[in-house]
Amino acid sequence: MTSPGQKSPVWHAFTQHGLGEEIPLIARASGATLHGADGRRWIDCISSWWVITHGHCEPRIQAAIRDQTDRLDQLIFAGWTHEPAETLARGLVAIAPAGLDHVFFSDSGSTSVEVALKMALGYWLNRGEPRHRILVLEHGYHGDTIGTMSVGERGVYNRAYQPLLFDVGTIPFPAAGQEQANLDALDAACRNERPAAFIVEPLVLGAGGMLVYGAETLARMRAICARHGVLFIADEVMTGWGRTGTLFACEQAGISPDILCLSKGLTGGALPLAATLATPAIFDAHLSDDRARMFFHSSSYTANPVACAAANANLAIWREEPVMDRISCLAAMQDERLAALDGRGRIRARRRIGTIAAMEFVEGKGDYLSALGPRLNAFFRDRGLLLRPMGNTVYLLPPYCISAAELDQAYAAIEEAAEAIG
Ligand SMILES: *Cc1c(COP(=O)(O)O)cnc(C)c1O
Repeated sequence: MTSPGQKSPVWHAFTQHGLGEEIPLIARASGATLHGADGRRWIDCISSWWVITHGHCEPRIQAAIRDQTDRLDQLIFAGWTHEPAETLARGLVAIAPAGLDHVFFSDSGSTSVEVALKMALGYWLNRGEPRHRILVLEHGYHGDTIGTMSVGERGVYNRAYQPLLFDVGTIPFPAAGQEQANLDALDAACRNERPAAFIVEPLVLGAGGMLVYGAETLARMRAICARHGVLFIADEVMTGWGRTGTLFACEQAGISPDILCLSKGLTGGALPLAATLATPAIFDAHLSDDRARMFFHSSSYTANPVACAAANANLAIWREEPVMDRISCLAAMQDERLAALDGRGRIRARRRIGTIAAMEFVEGKGDYLSALGPRLNAFFRDRGLLLRPMGNTVYLLPPYCISAAELDQAYAAIEEAAEAIG
């Protein structure tokens, strides 16, 4: 237990240490439950920041990790290879949208996006038509490195770094009823700005506040890019692995991107790993006997064998277990409970896509720094829930093993918060 007065050298992610908020010490986890070192328990309603899919310490994934750890811990992945990575690459090509035949490994969602952007620029340069402009979707989020912040929404969280961020073309978010403005802006930008690529989070913008848009719009955005020869990058770092009700969100629009970014649930959430999948056109643009045309990217832990083994176990779970049934069941449970919030005046804009439910708490300014966020956070933490709102947006993005009783506990606390917090 870390109490505010106690000194820890740890500098936490997205944490204002000056507020002295409690930072619980977690000793172990299983399923949807986090066990505190002091014996308290929390229900993990946000999958430990969107990574855990099946549940914490999933036995098959844990066993695969143990087994691989005894055999090969780490290997340089330039000019050398190993079975876990080969198996995983074949497995990913088999389940990804059609046409994504090449797999480049890295180690985080941000890196998978950086790789995607570099692939796009390499593609254009090697074709002898250099292009560097990137089109992005308003309210998008793709990571916290300089490159990924550049293609994400600008705000208080990146104000200090603004001078280093590169310029992009921003396409308005296709809010319900405003889809045509989005499509027109994309078409005009593709025509006039010679962009290298357009990057999107398919169907739901996660860190932007769980903003949902339709599969038809996604399909039309993809078609516009195809018509203009602009590369279409789907960032499925959050939406992948069943979150939106299908294995990948792109499936609902019946589309294949030119580049697909995967991470978070790739290992079931157990270990850091990422993959950027690309079409033969992009791979072939780098293929030559000229070393100057190769793809210049690596990170030390690229395709770490233990992480790849965890991902292979995850793929086996998807192949062999009724994961889709669990997902539909969770979706239905979320719907029932969201519907029961009807009439709570302070809760607005209830929405659900796949396993994700979200709503807005009225009050405050609605931005990320709204004072309501930390208060709700503490309120839920005191009631045994890891449920970390983004500003006024309260959302549940749970592991697929969460039980009806656990969800009831979460929704009861949300109702209570709607009464108690003003
Ligand atoms: C989380 C996220 C990322 C960044 O992933 P990290 O592993 O945190 O670097 C990128 N894109 C999307 C859509 C995300 O949700």
